[in-house]
Amino acid sequence: MKHLCHAYGCNAHVPPKMLMCLKHWRMVDPRIQRLVWSTYFNGQEIRKDPTKAYILVQRSAVWCVFVAEGGCKWPDVPEVGTEAYLIGPAALAAPVPAPNITIPAAPAQRLPGDGDPLA
Ligand SMILES: [Zn+2]
Repeated sequence: MKHLCHAYGCNAHVPPKMLMCLKHWRMVDPRIQRLVWSTYFNGQEIRKDPTKAYILVQRSAVWCVFVAEGGCKWPDVPEVGTEAYLIGPAALAAPVPAPNITIPAAPAQRLPGDGDPLA
């Protein structure tokens, strides 16, 4: 049975144990490469029983290649871990209405009942 590289659009034949051809594998972030191997169980490609963890990591690797090859056309991909990454670039670009909050002015002097109830 022929096994193809899992990168989008790649028809390179690779051994069933391998996720991708060497060209595409080198585009995968080394941290994700390590996760691929740490979630791989010998023979899973024959038994057809990869774990959910492996599938998740495998999809991350495919996504790495997709982005590296310019498949992601977002104007700005925020840095991982930044606020922009967490809420998304589109949310940052959208105009945010000014909050309509009125902060009451502090009283000029202490009133009976203000402050520490034990004082
Ligand atoms: Zn490939």
